Amino acid sequence: MGPRRPFVGGNWKMHGDRARASALAGDLVARRPAEGVDIVVFPPFVHLATVHARTEKSSVALGAQDVYFEREGAYTGEISAPMLLDAGCAWTLTGHSERRHVIGESDDLVGRKTRAALDAGLACVLCIGETLEEREAGETDQVNERQLRAGLHGVDRAWADRLVVAYEPVWAIGTGRTASPDDAQSAHERIRTVLADILGEAGAQVRIVYGGSVKPDNAADLFSQPDIDGGLIGGASLHTDQFLAICAEAARAGAASGGVTR
Ligand code: PEP
Repeated sequence: MGPRRPFVGGNWKMHGDRARASALAGDLVARRPAEGVDIVVFPPFVHLATVHARTEKSSVALGAQDVYFEREGAYTGEISAPMLLDAGCAWTLTGHSERRHVIGESDDLVGRKTRAALDAGLACVLCIGETLEEREAGETDQVNERQLRAGLHGVDRAWADRLVVAYEPVWAIGTGRTASPDDAQSAHERIRTVLADILGEAGAQVRIVYGGSVKPDNAADLFSQPDIDGGLIGGASLHTDQFLAICAEAARAGAASGGVTR
């Protein structure tokens, strides 16, 4: 892990009712997650208020799974960045692979959302990553670079400290298959170079986290790589024991590398 404060996000996706969300957030807060790591949970929109009530006095931050790029207006079904801030969110995801590949979001739309989120004052986890077909065609770095450049189009360098990039190979999400630590490191290294090209020196502060079937037993190997600054966790984030164990691995890797604990 590099000299950046570790980050672990829990993406709850479209799981659970209000009681489950409340219990999960309450349990997480009560068990005092590891220090030295930024921890953010991303519940479904309808549970944001419930989870906010549980987390607001804790070190666990709140995020949304998506955001719309307009601030207000006739956009039925959409939620804006100012609305998320008002609901207690500090963070949002943009460009999650399920939004790109299940819902059909374009690179351009993801870029508009990312820019709007950061401009409004949210912190943002921009998700990128290749499909299995693209990987087998040797296009991993190309796809990541294309999604990064479009995703960060118009993003101000001054916002870099509120930006996290999640590299999530689509074939590894929810499948139990994970990129090897070496393959993930090599993708992250390349992402770091592209970030420097887009954001200049500010690119060095952007945390690049890995997502795709991260579990307690593979987290340490992944997080010990120099350019892997933590993880975005789906399935395991719905189990407090597993999520806390992953957070602890990130904190350990951060401390071992002399990571910044701002
Ligand atoms: C995700 O939803 O971003 C994710 C990485 O899911 P999982 O950990 O279940 O693969």
